[in-house]
Amino acid sequence: MLDFQKSRWKMVEEQIIGREIKDPRVIAAMKKVPRHLFVEEALQNQAYNDRPLPIGEKQTISQPYMVALMTEALMLKGKEKVLEIGSGSGYQTAILAELAQEVFSVERIRTLAVRARKILYELGYFNVEIKIFDGTFGWVEKSPFDAIMVTAGSPDIPQPLYEQLSMGGRLVIPIGDENIQDLFRITKTEGGMKKEDLGGCRFVKLVGKYGWEEE
Ligand code: SAH
Repeated sequence: MLDFQKSRWKMVEEQIIGREIKDPRVIAAMKKVPRHLFVEEALQNQAYNDRPLPIGEKQTISQPYMVALMTEALMLKGKEKVLEIGSGSGYQTAILAELAQEVFSVERIRTLAVRARKILYELGYFNVEIKIFDGTFGWVEKSPFDAIMVTAGSPDIPQPLYEQLSMGGRLVIPIGDENIQDLFRITKTEGGMKKEDLGGCRFVKLVGKYGWEEE
């Protein structure tokens, strides 16, 4: 049997700290959350490679470095209410649940949402709620959010997500075409929208009213 904790710590040292992720809370969360439990058993021995992995339904669990980069970009201190679009495996949700007060996550594919709910509950993340819906609408009843993370690539900023940010709130989202995107941090300020390009990335499609059309 593989020593999962040892390989997780090694991955964090080499791929997260080694690639300039600095926020100590993000680093601690990456060291703690057992990524191997968010993938099927046959893939568990690959869970601490810094790579995305298939989770079924043609979707993927994001690469750990990308999870760390996006999480750090939200600048969480611990008291925030966070919205995530694209629960997928629930791994990123668990990282957010470690770092914020409440996490609301939306997933459009039922089987993934049900599995994510189960594993998060088993691991004791009770500050998480997952809804099965088109997340490009956000989650207006729970808004405003201090931070919003979209873990699928979008052609543009879905208007409802920007509207559901609190003043000073951050939205991290991959924007681009269907194959390649740039990761953006959008901040809502008194003076309007502040937009920062954090570099290239590659995500599955955000499918919905304010994203890509369904195939
Ligand atoms: N954070 C996840 C990433 C999963 S991949 C993880 O690390 O496991 C992106 C996810 O976004 C997929 O599960 C996909 O079904 C979901 N998704 C795509 N469009 C969506 C939408 N409009 N609303 C909610 N979820 C969406």
